[in-house]
Amino acid sequence: MIETRKGAIIGAGIGGLTAAVALKQRGIAIDIYDASPDMTAFPRSNTGIIVPPNAMAVLKKLGLAKAVAEAGFEVDWLTILDHKAQVLSKSKAAYSYKKGSAPTIAIRRNKLRKILLDELTPEQIHTEHRCLALDEHSDGICAHFESQDSQQFDYVIGADGLHSQVRAHFFPEQRLQITSQVCWRGVVETKLPRPWRNQLTELWGMGLRFGFVQVSKKYAYWYAIKSAITTDELDVTSDDLNLIELFQEFPDIVCQLIALTPPTDIHSASIGELPPLALWHGKHGALLGDAAHASIPNLGQGGALAMEDAWVLAKKLAKYPQPELAFQQYQLSRRKRVERVVKLSQTLGSVSHFESPLACVLRNVFMTSVPGFVTRHQQKQLYDCGDLE
Ligand SMILES: Cc1cc2nc3c(=O)[nH]c(=O)nc-3n(C[C@H](O)[C@H](O)[C@H](O)COP(=O)(O)OP(=O)(O)OC[C@H]3O[C@@H](n4cnc5c(N)ncnc54)[C@H](O)[C@@H]3O)c2cc1C
Repeated sequence: MIETRKGAIIGAGIGGLTAAVALKQRGIAIDIYDASPDMTAFPRSNTGIIVPPNAMAVLKKLGLAKAVAEAGFEVDWLTILDHKAQVLSKSKAAYSYKKGSAPTIAIRRNKLRKILLDELTPEQIHTEHRCLALDEHSDGICAHFESQDSQQFDYVIGADGLHSQVRAHFFPEQRLQITSQVCWRGVVETKLPRPWRNQLTELWGMGLRFGFVQVSKKYAYWYAIKSAITTDELDVTSDDLNLIELFQEFPDIVCQLIALTPPTDIHSASIGELPPLALWHGKHGALLGDAAHASIPNLGQGGALAMEDAWVLAKKLAKYPQPELAFQQYQLSRRKRVERVVKLSQTLGSVSHFESPLACVLRNVFMTSVPGFVTRHQQKQLYDCGDLE
């Protein structure tokens, strides 16, 4: 198909960049617009991310799995401990598909973004282009940017994350759900000692969760999540709250990692949630990733689902000349899988953030007795994304 449509991607996060690369590989060089001035430098880019086997499967299709594996650090085990370091669950991080296997890789976000960005041409990328509004007419859609620039397109892909402006245009009635959780993330120059080095470790306390992993030979990434009780606590930043005090009952390594991280490198945020929308597209635009469905990061799947979305959407746009038909087929292909993963994430999230001591004791006993076949079934649900048709 000779491309005559002019499309645009709003948002150059993991999902938007993956979509741009997948489209380019199918002969559709699409422009991508992002609010940030520097694609690899905005604060969250400096944290880490776990790239699970299903996301590695997408990267393999794009020919980028090797580059990501080399720039990151392979995770052998996913280990959940209680806050006294007693093992609650331990499973292999790689997943075997019928046609091969895929690893889990932990990597710095800016490195992942750079690998995707390097697949695009500089002309495709427009930084400092925050989309403020869109207006549609019979044969297209106009995007208005903060830079005073307005551009006319045949369609737009809304990959602009949790607070999506594109979603606000197509579905103004949709509201984000404010969760009762706050998170902190940091990357620190250190080589984790064994046994922590080759595993993603999560420690569950009462209303507190701490995870850490090696993301390269030199750097480790950690995240801390607290269930907040009051609205005031949701505004909390690392300056207001002593993280070391909060996690003092956790194993020493937790406080050591926090202490080693310069406070300016700790990124804090309250966590928002958007249950998957009933409809992911309008006539001239479709949503992907967090813009369409954002779950609490309990399973480390938000970025992975955004990449899966991107791959499928690119495939449909390459197949169907009418964008609206492509969007319909995309949603049809994606919705069930996304809803299943989001549901699983919600279940795990409610368990990991129990706050009462009794509930935590019962949870921990239950976790240690989960049979292997249940864990394997859950992994299949998460990692087996099929052929991504
Ligand atoms: C604490 C935490 C840990 C997580 N860990 C993992 C993990 O280990 N693995 C995983 O897969 N997922 C993880 N996630 C989820 C993951 O970060 C998100 O699901 C993922 O980033 C979504 O990708 P996206 O491309 O949809 O949106 P984003 O990554 O949020 O990208 C949106 C982009 O749009 C741009 N933008 C926003 N508004 C506009 C606008 N109006 N105009 C132009 N540009 C705009 C932004 O600058 C940004 O570049 C985690 C999330 C949290 C909160």
